Amino acid sequence: MNYVDQVYLFVGKAVVLAVIISFLLSLIIALLVGISFKTGRYFLARPMLIGISLLESFVKAIFWLARADDKIVDDVGISLMNYINRGKFYATPVEERFVFMPQCLRSIDCPAKLTPEGIICVGCGRCGIGEAKRLAESRGYRFFVVPGSSFIKRIIQRYHPKGIVGVGCEMEIKEGLILCHSHGIPAIGVSLTTAGCVATTLNWEKLYDVLLQRSN
Ligand code: SF4
Repeated sequence: MNYVDQVYLFVGKAVVLAVIISFLLSLIIALLVGISFKTGRYFLARPMLIGISLLESFVKAIFWLARADDKIVDDVGISLMNYINRGKFYATPVEERFVFMPQCLRSIDCPAKLTPEGIICVGCGRCGIGEAKRLAESRGYRFFVVPGSSFIKRIIQRYHPKGIVGVGCEMEIKEGLILCHSHGIPAIGVSLTTAGCVATTLNWEKLYDVLLQRSN
């Protein structure tokens, strides 16, 4: 066997070994994700989160092969980030925590006006945002209804919040949690129960659990 053949053989073996190791690791992570989803408890939280980040496609493929909903992987990934962040988040003074709500949760008849500080809810009662704003502000949070994704970056740069609660679809939450992590801000994400551009829905109790530090 000449030198070139030996290199090809070595690379081939290395690729096969890498695929086998990735598959086995993904299998372990898929099992941990399944257990976490069933029990609501997180074993090896940080390694599991790193594993989901690095091997998300493999882990989702295993869920798909097992005929399970691969959305569970996203759900558990968000819950893990929340779980890891919550200690630091609740250690920050509440006055330095910001809440960002998506505008799609508003009633289609919302009378609120757009300003440089976001959409200013007037508490008309046509959607749940008014009550959430009242509760959050009574606890000391700063509350924003977000007109677009660039708004959050602008507010972070202007006010430097020390903790963030973000509501949105799963994709927005994942991106938002990564953005906050890159700024060193502990964040908690709450996913919409129905996503979309208008008339979205939220399990408001889940948001209140976070704001009132009940459980999440
Ligand atoms: S409660 Fe606030 S956000 Fe909801 S529709 Fe009324 S003004 Fe708009």
